Amino acid sequence: MKNPFLLLAIGLLTLCACSTHKTYKTKDENDALLARIKELSSDRYEGRRTGERGNALARTYIIDQFKHYNVSGFDGNYEQIFTFTEWNKSYTGVNILAEIKGTVTPEKYIVISAHYDHLGVRGETVYNGADDNASGVSALIHFAEYLVKNPPRHSVIFASFDAEELGLNGAKHFVSKIDHDNIVMNINMDMIGRSPKNELYVVGARYNTSLKAIVDAFENPTSTQLLQGHDGTDGKLDWTYSSDHEPFHLAKIPFLYFGNEDHKAYHKPTDDFENITPEFYKNAVKIILSIFNTIDASGLD
Ligand SMILES: [Zn+2]
Repeated sequence: MKNPFLLLAIGLLTLCACSTHKTYKTKDENDALLARIKELSSDRYEGRRTGERGNALARTYIIDQFKHYNVSGFDGNYEQIFTFTEWNKSYTGVNILAEIKGTVTPEKYIVISAHYDHLGVRGETVYNGADDNASGVSALIHFAEYLVKNPPRHSVIFASFDAEELGLNGAKHFVSKIDHDNIVMNINMDMIGRSPKNELYVVGARYNTSLKAIVDAFENPTSTQLLQGHDGTDGKLDWTYSSDHEPFHLAKIPFLYFGNEDHKAYHKPTDDFENITPEFYKNAVKIILSIFNTIDASGLD
């Protein structure tokens, strides 16, 4: 954003957002869903690039949200620090991990994930990443809030991975450290906030017979279409390896990835809050939560 008046206006709006978001006054959880995207994709977070100030600010915001909804850190710690090298540059990344213990099989975990990093600032342009992936992070917090009130049978790890944009580094680190035998599956959300066509894609069912049966039989409670595709079966770009679900898949852990096909703003400065399609987004969140509940109730064979 180059216009100084616009920046001032945004600064004032951000100030307003700051003073209100900490009190969480909104009663309507759908408003909270959108408010979190607006917050995380505001210029204040400077595009949330790994290792930079805006990324750390976003992390503080996300951890505060988990604390607000009484969701504790995974094994008592919200932060999982890791280092990696990309293009001869060393980075330190920080995954955010929170958990809710299951009521029936607490030793078995479903990992729900949404990366929080994005591209940062290039020149004077902030890449705000509203769809990619403030949309997934806000949904993740919504699920945490819901599951505190409606405890799941399996334990759930809420993973907001860092350094997805630099090469899925946060997810790779997490998968390398966790005992695979205890992970039932991964549900990954990346770009679920924007679809003028009102279509949400789910990828990964075809690799697991239980997931395939669940997704095939899914009764969609919304007007948004849930499509199976982009999975190597339909000639479209195969998204099997496109986001943080990849390391899970390579470790033979079942996964479902949810995302949209509207890539007009993909990695562009126009991926802003104003271009989120709210009706689609709320429906996407409903669909994913509903599928989670089915999986949690039945487990996988
Ligand atoms: Zn993404």
